[in-house]
Amino acid sequence: MSCVFCQINRSELPAYTVYRDNDCHGIMDKFPLSPGHVIVLSHSHVGSISELSSQERASLMEAGNKIGLALKATNKKIKDVHYLINDGPEANQHVPHVHLHVIPRYGWDLGLLPYRFLTRFANPLNYVLSDKRLSAWAEEIKSHLL
Ligand SMILES: [Zn+2]
Repeated sequence: MSCVFCQINRSELPAYTVYRDNDCHGIMDKFPLSPGHVIVLSHSHVGSISELSSQERASLMEAGNKIGLALKATNKKIKDVHYLINDGPEANQHVPHVHLHVIPRYGWDLGLLPYRFLTRFANPLNYVLSDKRLSAWAEEIKSHLL
């Protein structure tokens, strides 16, 4: 199977893991909408949350909540968090595999978000994309998971 998220779940592609349980896997987004952006991948290869079991949907949200709390504990500049699922290609789902975005908000970033939304795959910001930065974020988030 060529799904990039399945390959990450099987450790066939590198990723910075912040969380893992029986149903899902949280990793640093390599194309972050804001610094600290995490995506939580279901272990099941399905495109829509409606195809997950109730247990899997609940685990996805529970993992997102834990990661959101850890992000706030990691960086006091993070004011709030978006929890976002693009459920299907017409909803901007780029990889047809369920994933929950956990996107930190800093208060100053209202103008940055739409810019990053439109350009994040074509115009990455190196300061948030370096392996060193992503690794540091992952370690910080893991250290604050409850
Ligand atoms: Zn997949």
